[in-house]
Amino acid sequence: MTGTIRSTSPQRPDDVVGEWPDAGATGVDGAAGRAREALTGWSSATAFERSRVLGDAAARLAAVADDLAELLVREVGKPITESRAEIARAVAILEFYAQAALDPEGEVLPPSAAGSMLLTRRRPRGVVGLITPWNFPVAIPVWKLAPALAWGNVAVLKPSPESTACALRLAEALDLPAGVLQVVPGGGGAGRAMVEHPGIDAVSFTGSAAVGHDVAKAAAAHGIPAQAEMGGQNPVVVLADADLEAAAVAVASAAMGYAGQKCTAARRVIAVGTAARDLPEALVARVEALKVGDPAASDTVVGPLITSAARDRVAAAVDAARSSGARVLTGGARLDGEGWFYTPALVDGVGADQELAREEVFGPVLAMFAASDLEEAVRMANATRYGLVAAVFTRDLGVALDAATRLEAGLVRINAPTTGVDFHAPFGGDKGSGHGGREQGRAAREFYTTTTTITIAPPF
Ligand code: NAD
Repeated sequence: MTGTIRSTSPQRPDDVVGEWPDAGATGVDGAAGRAREALTGWSSATAFERSRVLGDAAARLAAVADDLAELLVREVGKPITESRAEIARAVAILEFYAQAALDPEGEVLPPSAAGSMLLTRRRPRGVVGLITPWNFPVAIPVWKLAPALAWGNVAVLKPSPESTACALRLAEALDLPAGVLQVVPGGGGAGRAMVEHPGIDAVSFTGSAAVGHDVAKAAAAHGIPAQAEMGGQNPVVVLADADLEAAAVAVASAAMGYAGQKCTAARRVIAVGTAARDLPEALVARVEALKVGDPAASDTVVGPLITSAARDRVAAAVDAARSSGARVLTGGARLDGEGWFYTPALVDGVGADQELAREEVFGPVLAMFAASDLEEAVRMANATRYGLVAAVFTRDLGVALDAATRLEAGLVRINAPTTGVDFHAPFGGDKGSGHGGREQGRAAREFYTTTTTITIAPPF
């Protein structure tokens, strides 16, 4: 055991949501051993049995949706409307993989020798380690867990310390067969121990770029597959022919909703031609219309930052831009009183070398830029080491499709906010935002299974 982890409510920091012993490497070791014992039974169960278990788990999760949504609000400060939507999505993901478990599990290919058969068959990796962030404390564990289980793996989940209560409550609600899902509360040390444990066969990570790259390297050194979904520095290109009001609504909510604490949040808006003249005013109005405050209130859009340190990092990035000559058009201040609140900031005139232009600043901050034409806008949009999501606002379909092929991002959204994920479609980033293949939908099967190629020569 390596100390204690403690989770507090970001809107009421005196409210201790829970305290747990940090399981550390010892806890990982015990969980990996129990998972191995459960693997034989789970991986040899029929797909119909696994499908039924996932379907039942979906129903059990739906039954506790209201309680769990309140816990999300309390533990990670996610506004209640979004918290409810996250749990509904997790239920839908479980239902989706309950069906996907029944997909064909291989192919028959033309053999090279007459009379032979050539087959491929998917089989599970084994015991998979899941390392997750705090910002989607239910949906992210579920979008890793459900495909892992559907295709015959068992899982050990190491959630973020800031969302431990949600992870434990989720596991309790799912009530899966013994050893099939275990939650190991702990910090980075427990995560690292998971990647290095000889009883873990594959690791799926979501979190920051710094940790994700470290996880990918450590997994490679241990010879296991790793998937790492990381941060973004997501650009939105707004062309002059776009519906600027609609664009402003979408960009404001994508940048500031949940206090900008989404990997898909809009971080930069690049206005092209005359849009650079008209968009700022529309954006200021839309940002100022977003309600900041208690995440338990149904009309709140912007809750608190997750910790005091997270708010300090955001404030420091805005202050650095300000002292280098950028103008803060609205927001950019800590709210007095309880909780880690920060008013949504729209910043203009940010230098290309500033953190706000280059790095993921995980908070309610949007940097504004101007480009003379689409060429320049695409160049600016791509001038980052990240590549998670990009959006384009235009009425010209040709321009939209052209931009969509040239933007270096795993997801491109046309006339739609950068945020919003379709759980049945491939999801993930390019460049420094993603490693090891896409998550979600049927694309997840690539990571959670391996393929055996089987040759059968006669006689058989
Ligand atoms: P984080 O990287 O600090 O932590 C993520 C997880 O890794 C936690 O469980 C943490 O305890 C664990 N960890 C820390 N150090 C480790 C180590 N050395 N080895 C193994 N595990 C370790 O991220 P966070 O603050 O919890 O989450 C916010 C970040 O997650 C943002 O960068 C955001 O963009 C990203 N994110 C990405 C996606 C996506 O799908 N691309 C989705 C949500 C969040």
